[in-house]
Amino acid sequence: MKEFDLIKQYFAQRGHVRKDVILGIGDDCAITKVPDNQHLAVTTDTLISGVHFLADAPARSVAYKAVAVNLSDLAACGAEPAWISLSLSLPSYDEAWIDEFVNGLYELTEYYSVQLIGGDTVTGPLALTITAQGFVPPDTELRRSNAKPGDWIYVTGNLGDAGAGLDILKGNIEASAEHRDYLINRHYYPTPRVLAGTSLRRTANTGIDVSDGLVADLSHILRASGCGATVHVDRLPVSSALFDTVGAQQAYRYALSAGDDYELVFTVNEEQRGNLETSLANANVKATCIGQVNGYTGQLDLRLYDAKYELDKDAGYEHQF
Ligand code: ADP
Ligand code: MG
Repeated sequence: MKEFDLIKQYFAQRGHVRKDVILGIGDDCAITKVPDNQHLAVTTDTLISGVHFLADAPARSVAYKAVAVNLSDLAACGAEPAWISLSLSLPSYDEAWIDEFVNGLYELTEYYSVQLIGGDTVTGPLALTITAQGFVPPDTELRRSNAKPGDWIYVTGNLGDAGAGLDILKGNIEASAEHRDYLINRHYYPTPRVLAGTSLRRTANTGIDVSDGLVADLSHILRASGCGATVHVDRLPVSSALFDTVGAQQAYRYALSAGDDYELVFTVNEEQRGNLETSLANANVKATCIGQVNGYTGQLDLRLYDAKYELDKDAGYEHQF
């Protein structure tokens, strides 16, 4: 198909160029070089129209978010991003849409000096898969399984905005003009916490990114580590936009169970806590301590001003198969 050959040209002629890419787009394979004394971190995420993004989402957001969620996974391991590849399934050749898509794709890659090194383009339902690769020094990656009783639990940024943004788009809630734009943008253009991730390497015990909701994702850490935790709901960081739009109680619910925020949740032991706060402050990353890990395996104890807090059982987004 001729048009799709044009798309490949399009991808080949733009974007950041790195010295460690020996052979980029245009051949059968890309050839790259991993620096000495670094390990390679690799992650893949697929986004399908109508499942992972709204069918009428702006093209710029579709591409931006696909890059963001992959860089977020690298960040959650403490890896520094280097290369991405893109497998793109397009229903038709819509030049304006593709133009916007490509602009969205290159925004984060430019910002983080990441190079698009290859991919595949096919005709089919709108869907895209990105594989991202990055570097992490040996034995510094943030694993889910390293939390220990006594560790403090932190989260970057604010929680719940993206979920509220999605509900605004679906017409489930209403917001003032000013908050509306902010919350919708948090849904369409999530910020991967790349610098936070690399800053946490030597101090945090574990890390994960919040894709399915705080409760669901923190539970992954607790399960993998054989621990439990107490989380103080009243300490969850929520934006004033979210707070003003839905009130405190609903804001907590969004913060606990809405997905797609792509903030990092991590744990740190008492000894490293000061160092961690210093390195995050140096990186200009906001992080909030929301609770503590304990030895009560499998239990997540939610507290609101020290009273027990119950969250609906259906909280946290999980795909049904
Ligand atoms: P082949 O038939 O050898 O698999 P293709 O015709 O699929 O090659 O692709 C040609 C070149 O364009 C390859 O280097 C491939 O990596 C690149 N490419 C194809 N589609 C994309 C895309 N969506 N994004 C980035 N690179 C792409
Ligand atoms: Mg191919």
